[in-house]
Amino acid sequence: MADTSTTTSLARALSHQQLDPCDPSPRDPLVPGRRRALSFKSSLNRLDTDDSCVIESRVLVLNTGGTIGMKVDHDVLKPEANALVAMLKKLPILHDAAYAEKTCLYDYYNPEDTLVLPLSKEKRRIIYTIVEYNPLLDSSNMTTKDWAKIGRDIETEYENYDGFVVLHGTDTMAYTASALSFMCEHLGKPVILTGSQVPIYEMKNDGRGNLLGALMIAGQYCIPEVCLYFYNKLYRGNRVTKVDAGSYNAFSSPNLAPLATTEVDIAIDWDTVWMPNTTSKFRVSTELNRNVGLLRLFPGITTEAVRAFLQSAIEGVVLESYGSGNAPDNRPELIAELKKAIASGTIIMNCTQCLKGTVSAFYNTGKVLLDAGLIPGGDMTPEAALSKLSYVLAKTNLSIEAKKKLMSDNLRGEMSADRGAATLCMSDSRFIQIIAKTLSINCTEEMKAICNALTPTLACAATKTGDIEALEALREMGNNLCLSDYDGRTPLHIAASEGYLNVVQYLLSHGASVYARDRYGDTPLSNAVRFRRKEVVKLLRKTGAHFSRDELDEAGTELSSLAASGDLEGLEIWHLAGADLNKPSYDGKTASQVAEALGKTEVVRHLLKLETNKPKSGVIEFTATMTGK
Ligand code: ASP
Repeated sequence: MADTSTTTSLARALSHQQLDPCDPSPRDPLVPGRRRALSFKSSLNRLDTDDSCVIESRVLVLNTGGTIGMKVDHDVLKPEANALVAMLKKLPILHDAAYAEKTCLYDYYNPEDTLVLPLSKEKRRIIYTIVEYNPLLDSSNMTTKDWAKIGRDIETEYENYDGFVVLHGTDTMAYTASALSFMCEHLGKPVILTGSQVPIYEMKNDGRGNLLGALMIAGQYCIPEVCLYFYNKLYRGNRVTKVDAGSYNAFSSPNLAPLATTEVDIAIDWDTVWMPNTTSKFRVSTELNRNVGLLRLFPGITTEAVRAFLQSAIEGVVLESYGSGNAPDNRPELIAELKKAIASGTIIMNCTQCLKGTVSAFYNTGKVLLDAGLIPGGDMTPEAALSKLSYVLAKTNLSIEAKKKLMSDNLRGEMSADRGAATLCMSDSRFIQIIAKTLSINCTEEMKAICNALTPTLACAATKTGDIEALEALREMGNNLCLSDYDGRTPLHIAASEGYLNVVQYLLSHGASVYARDRYGDTPLSNAVRFRRKEVVKLLRKTGAHFSRDELDEAGTELSSLAASGDLEGLEIWHLAGADLNKPSYDGKTASQVAEALGKTEVVRHLLKLETNKPKSGVIEFTATMTGK
């Protein structure tokens, strides 16, 4: 398709010239970001400044409360409303007033709630908007209703931001993070909970560092998970537990290493990040069942206490057992109560009281629970198991067996895979070994560096020829198929450009992100539109891909130009990709006005037809025909 939009091509040309070719940052996988339309309107002089090659990302901060925003009132800490933004504006590390002024930020954003971080090492500007909840809550006061509100807000604003930060009290943060991880289905963008042990208003505190770290990750790295950021570490949200009430290092993720550490540099462990494996669109399941509970075993617990607990309206229980999932095997009357509850439809999970380690049936005292019908919870934290039960039990359309199956499945990386699963790595590859031999390199470090350098290029090359077998081989060797090449292009960009629907489908099922942007700011969706890959556009849209706000703003000009040249197919593709057909171009005319003025009645009719057949609620019917190369 000819690039008929002057603004788009100008923007692309400018970003192409301005990005430093030696800058390694575009190689970071899945870095979101875009230029603000403002940059295109600026005088050429501005392009000489440092900001000319800056890419902006947008982060939404939902401030739910917690110590981070508390002040002392009558000798106790309480959340302070309407104070955070004003305070942050005075902190140069959290707001660059000069940049906001220079780039007329507030012509575009509300100064009451929007701030901008200083330029990051990765040459990103993170513009963040804070939405303050009313009332702000100490997290001890939170319930499932509050989780649902956070989920709904993320769902509503999902397409307007690159990432989300949730400010939250630390006391129940592990529960909320776990719950959101299950509620957010087919998540493709980062959602990061953080807070602090000391209010951000105090002279010495951990709130500033925690907020800054969470913003920098949410705005720069497309980690498609609900995470918790605290004290220089990013954790998977459903793996954490609060372990210290009096230290900045308040959280622990006993059974999974952090996803990232932020010390001198931000180091993301992409091998640990839970990658999406779906072609479904993001949505939030806000239904949660509150009839769940935690039952902690202790020596001498009475059968009456267990019976009373299980006789209530309870539908799901996390039994916190001893060690590797053990309970008394010399108390048949106690085990009988558990069996009775299970027989009447209650789901009981077996989780260990230990911080580290997993449930197993090593001992007879463990086997007795398995035999009674309890579901082994692996190394899930009680917080994760409880919120998973709450999420699964709310799926009223599922049978009890289907619910039990979901409870034992690893839905969001909340438990470790079985030990013994084959761990393959790139160094197993004969191909790589041959290359290494040719280069006479044997040292593991160098070998690893070669693998890292080669993988994205090999994966992109395999994609270019539509070779799924080669992609599968690379994946089986432990490689990440969403890494980008020297131009920030991922295999999904290539497959979308080539129109290989089956490869697109395969990549989406193996971790590829529809939000990845290459060095020109293009996503797989923009590529598919440019090369007119209609079925790919439909599949990407179904998976949640969307134009950025800037692209939607520019769509009017593109549509008018397509209308003027009578390009019916082009108009349909842009429509399928989510462009608003009524968006006026830079001169205020819509595509259909342009067509009318030029007497192109066929175009006017076509536009009308597209508009009438607009899919309800944005769902596009997807034809599952696989078009090969
Ligand atoms: N009580 C506070 C809360 O959870 C503790 C904190 O934020 O650190 O809201």
